[in-house]
Amino acid sequence: MKILPVAFDSLGVRSMATYVETSDVRVFIDPGVSVSPDRYSLPPHRIELDRHREMWEAITRWVGMSDIVIVTHYHFDHHNPDHPEIFREKDVFLKHPREFLNQSQKERATTFLSRIEPYAKSVNIADGKSFDFGKTRIVFSEPVLHGLTQQLGYVVQTMVEEDERFVFTSDVQGPLNNGALDFILDVKPNSIVIDGPATYLLGSHYKKSDIDRALENLLKIVEGCRLTNMIVDHHLLRDLKWSEYVGCFSKTKRGLKVCSAAGFLGKEEDQLEAKRKDMYNGQPY
Ligand SMILES: [Zn+2]
Ligand SMILES: [Zn+2]
Repeated sequence: MKILPVAFDSLGVRSMATYVETSDVRVFIDPGVSVSPDRYSLPPHRIELDRHREMWEAITRWVGMSDIVIVTHYHFDHHNPDHPEIFREKDVFLKHPREFLNQSQKERATTFLSRIEPYAKSVNIADGKSFDFGKTRIVFSEPVLHGLTQQLGYVVQTMVEEDERFVFTSDVQGPLNNGALDFILDVKPNSIVIDGPATYLLGSHYKKSDIDRALENLLKIVEGCRLTNMIVDHHLLRDLKWSEYVGCFSKTKRGLKVCSAAGFLGKEEDQLEAKRKDMYNGQPY
């Protein structure tokens, strides 16, 4: 199985866009990308807007090569209603567009669905279901909380299984809740893409005990699964000190590589959002 992180926070944008290829099927998960409208009370820097464009181009290229496109929830860093044409002739698997949604995502889902339906080959509800493509099985979790409460709505997690198992957690903020954790511990992936806790919101939206709980849950995943690759990115990579939180996990288990999406690709992290102040100050970033 080939796993390719396409657009991620460690690559300079808000996204978890991922391409997965097995011998049976080519899958794209969450074709969306955004930049923070306001970080350190500053709007996006020109460099971030350029990167946003580059990353969207990369997403459209890889979606073009995919058979299946999955949308795990209706935040704009995970789907893009303005370019429904990328779904032309694709089999689309969506987080349920009417159930287990907060009000804003319900409205976004209705708009998105009406725009992609004329293009897609098929539109399928993903929540809690599994689908076989030759020897490849794709399993979706039941809707799980986008973090701690219903405020941010729900997501579906995705497992792709061929000879090994790969899990894409979507936005579970750690994971912070047991529903998200239980799915991961149940399917026991060999590789995982996980968003990690939003440590940059510590003191404003999250308490230290929330971050501690997310880290405890990450440790349970490390101990409970036969992981070789743990790619932690997205929310955690908005913090320049991200590796201080998860670097220790590599030492917990032999053969486990813990890295960002950039690290998985053999690149340096390029955390543009976290370095926005430096870019505005004309400092090297
Ligand atoms: Zn989200
Ligand atoms: Zn997100």
